[in-house]
Amino acid sequence: MSGPKPLPIAVSESTDFSAGVAIGFSASRDASENTAGEDTTKKNEMNTNTMRDENKVIKNTTCYMCACRCGIRVTLRDGEIRYIEGNPNHPLNKGVICAKGASGIMKQYSPARLTKPLLRKSGSDRGDAQFEEISWNRALKLITDRLLHIRRTDPKKFALFTGRDQMQALTGLFARQFGTPNYAAHGGFCSVNMAAGMIYTIGGSFWEFGGPDLDRAKLFIMIGTAEDHHSNPLKIAISRFKRSGGKFISINPVRTGYSAIADEWVPIKPGTDGALMMALIHVLIRDGLFDRDFLVQYTNAAELVNQDQGTSREDEFGMFVREDIPVDEGCFDPPNKLWWDRTMNKPVSARMDGVDPRLQGDYKLPDGTLVKPAFQLLKERVAECTPKWASEIRGIAPQTITRLAHEMGVTVRDQKIEFPIAWTDIWDKEHETITGNPVAFHAMRGMAAHSNGFHAIRALTILMSILGTIDRPGGFRHKAPFPRPIPPCAKTPNGPEGIRPETPLGDMPLGWPEEPDDLFVDDEGEAIRIDKAFSWEYPLSVHGMMHNVITNATRGDPYHLDTLMIFMANMAWNSTMNTSEIREMLNEKHEHGDKQGEYKIPFLIVCDAFQSETVAFADLVLPDTTYLERHDVMSMLDRPISEFDGPVDSVRIPVVEPLGECRPFQEVLIELASRLELPKFVDKTGNRKFKDYPDFVVNYETEPGSGIGFLAGWRGKNGDQFMKGEPNPDQWKKYEENNCVFQYELPKSYAYMRNWNKGYLEWAQRHRLVRYAEPINIHIYSEVLQRFRLAAQGKTNGRQPPNHLRNRIETYFDPLPFYYQPLETRLTDRKKYPLNAVTQRPMAMYHSWDSQNAWLRQIHAHNYLYMSPLVGRDNGFEDGDWVWVESMWGRVRCMCRFSETVEPGTVWTWNAIGKASGAWNLAPNSNEARKGFLLNHLISEELPRQDDQSGRGYGDKVFSNSDPVTGQAAWYDVQVRVYKSESDEFDGSYPQFDSMPAVPGVGKPKTWLKYFAGGEK
Ligand code: SF4
Repeated sequence: MSGPKPLPIAVSESTDFSAGVAIGFSASRDASENTAGEDTTKKNEMNTNTMRDENKVIKNTTCYMCACRCGIRVTLRDGEIRYIEGNPNHPLNKGVICAKGASGIMKQYSPARLTKPLLRKSGSDRGDAQFEEISWNRALKLITDRLLHIRRTDPKKFALFTGRDQMQALTGLFARQFGTPNYAAHGGFCSVNMAAGMIYTIGGSFWEFGGPDLDRAKLFIMIGTAEDHHSNPLKIAISRFKRSGGKFISINPVRTGYSAIADEWVPIKPGTDGALMMALIHVLIRDGLFDRDFLVQYTNAAELVNQDQGTSREDEFGMFVREDIPVDEGCFDPPNKLWWDRTMNKPVSARMDGVDPRLQGDYKLPDGTLVKPAFQLLKERVAECTPKWASEIRGIAPQTITRLAHEMGVTVRDQKIEFPIAWTDIWDKEHETITGNPVAFHAMRGMAAHSNGFHAIRALTILMSILGTIDRPGGFRHKAPFPRPIPPCAKTPNGPEGIRPETPLGDMPLGWPEEPDDLFVDDEGEAIRIDKAFSWEYPLSVHGMMHNVITNATRGDPYHLDTLMIFMANMAWNSTMNTSEIREMLNEKHEHGDKQGEYKIPFLIVCDAFQSETVAFADLVLPDTTYLERHDVMSMLDRPISEFDGPVDSVRIPVVEPLGECRPFQEVLIELASRLELPKFVDKTGNRKFKDYPDFVVNYETEPGSGIGFLAGWRGKNGDQFMKGEPNPDQWKKYEENNCVFQYELPKSYAYMRNWNKGYLEWAQRHRLVRYAEPINIHIYSEVLQRFRLAAQGKTNGRQPPNHLRNRIETYFDPLPFYYQPLETRLTDRKKYPLNAVTQRPMAMYHSWDSQNAWLRQIHAHNYLYMSPLVGRDNGFEDGDWVWVESMWGRVRCMCRFSETVEPGTVWTWNAIGKASGAWNLAPNSNEARKGFLLNHLISEELPRQDDQSGRGYGDKVFSNSDPVTGQAAWYDVQVRVYKSESDEFDGSYPQFDSMPAVPGVGKPKTWLKYFAGGEK
């Protein structure tokens, strides 16, 4: 492989075709050069990480005040941080910094920093926060002894769950090597519906793995996105988009943040997005405003689906009809489907040259099998989903829905983009240009965090696909390592034999089921994981179900754990549903039997940098570092910061020494893995392979000699290779010299149509981003879902669900999207609880991370419940009153504010501003504790027991309050009522908890938080 060709990073704007979106735009230097397929890479302008002048030192690293990972420059004097600014040479933020990023200094010097390992005092209860300081040696020995025993006996009794960390490649590796399946990060309670709904449809999804191409789009539709999601990069992109005259439509119950600058706000009732998407598809199909050519060539829309009921082939009902030809096996769609040729009026091999297939109609194969193109089935599915139908569900005028569909369809039809970039498709057809349909979408948790979110997002992704916008200019574009096959190849073990003492898991702890045989269940069909992910209850729970771990482990369903390790997740507060009861569960003890008096979760390890609410419940506390004190990697093996035009990964390099005895959790994992002699971390004689985490990052390879490691840049002994190459001992130095980022720019001919781009797919295969250079055709119709449905109908020979789950699987594993009312809503007395209640994070704080930040607390120190004035009028209270908010699960007390920017059926608040008294080392009577509140108390992690006779109930058990397909936590399904709190009631928010004392090593809470450079903190 030839070495990368350095280019200055500033080139990216000049290689952009946004100025030449018209047909006939003359070939540019970049287009003509890059069509040769030559690899190029960028090198940053500033070649030193550290710049000195007389009195100060400036160090580059990567921000972690939210998950966007902007490049920052930290200015220090005498070893102290003085200020933080955006790095102008960083490809993600190009020098922009937000309020959070600039306030990192106050996170570093926060009075809530944990500084020492702590052990719960003997005789104290969890929640009392009574700890003694212990040494790291003792802490590590405690954990090692415990984990050695678990690993020798029953590895699944150890569970590792993490929050919004950026090191899942390491934590997942640790769990797999340990041999426990009980591992996941926060995705299951965040936006797994977005990931799964899109990846099971187009092989990629929003945010880290893809997004809207706003430099080229003409129309941008944003749905259910928090006010600062993908903060700086999206703000920069929207700003450019609006300046260039694009139209921005926001579909959201709340008009704040991004929605405030939208040209049009479409207020939507939470949980009804799927109905709107179905109606938009209805109009586009009805009015012929879809991209037929795109659908035919790049999706399975024209492929023929077996529709035989009641014949010998009914076991294949709903599956694609396949030709009887030999095909290679692998995790890709074999090219053996059929089209119906409109000229010859007969079935032919799909994608046969010169064939123009039917998308609509019903046909009979020569053997008598009835078939329909998948698109016909989609058309039938949306036939009843008229704008009027959707309007009755979600309350906006049918004319508005029709107009929105027409705006999308007409923009696609009349404003096509064409660039003179030649490319070759995977079927060896050469194209002289790249074309695009300039309608872009972005959606996130507001759409995902519902029990009907998976199908809503399937509907959105199909809408994007019928508009022909996938990986094309002006539409949705992938970011490496995506696109991936549908579904991606990684699988979990599929039975209890996958877990063995002193043995790594044979497969990944998290994977992508393709059929029932991929589920992780025992012979009775029962769940094997503690969170019940990949079971028949939640088959495609590809990010795990962290929100059910504490409940299941306390209940012993499916079993009790021994040790639960939680990293950077505030499971006793804002990261959990049903917060009050979860706090009680963490303290719950066996009342009978030989374990009487013991905690139901016997050992709880909490690793965090701050004194969160969860720390109070720990048996052992491990003090983590801040992002300014440690090495980190945003790896291609995990969630890198890739751009549309090519892979990008980045690192953090410490700018200051760790405070007190803080240690990076990564170092702790490397240390534990070495002590436990996990195979990938020790040599044949049991000696540790890696000195520390930086050493691990440089030298770890996915397989011996694979050349694939955590970082893609400057690989090979001489640092002249990228993506793949021998470990380079100077790799960290190269990142340090290059703004902590490695950027590789794909040749332009590889940068679009990547699901079908031969050059790209072969490049991706060579660099091990995909296993096969095979087309990744869009799954308008999902055979994966149909396989589960057939199993539930008893029509398959493989695994079938337990009887009590057959109806559930048959209902929700529909190969085409459909709208259904959210599960909790159905079980709620909606006359009593008429309002939807939702949360979002504010721009100034990332979830609970910044309640200790003196600067950001000046922006928010407590939260309100926002609502339409109509709600106050109907319920007899005024703006600013104290009100009760009640769901069927309980009630909280808070202050209300009237707002015209929320649809009248919804109330909302910011998540995680409200705090438990004393937590985060805030004064016990701080506004966060006395005026702030947490809506999570009103949201259950489980659905009400269902005792109906339909077979959809579950005997004596209950279902998680989650999407039945993916296990996505249904945060936004809760329904509430609001009423005035009388003046003689307790003055303050409710509930309140005993104040958490400052733990050893933290220091007393301060009334005034102040920072004096060069002096007292
Ligand atoms: S957007 Fe996020 S990563 Fe970027 S500067 Fe702000 S807090 Fe830091």
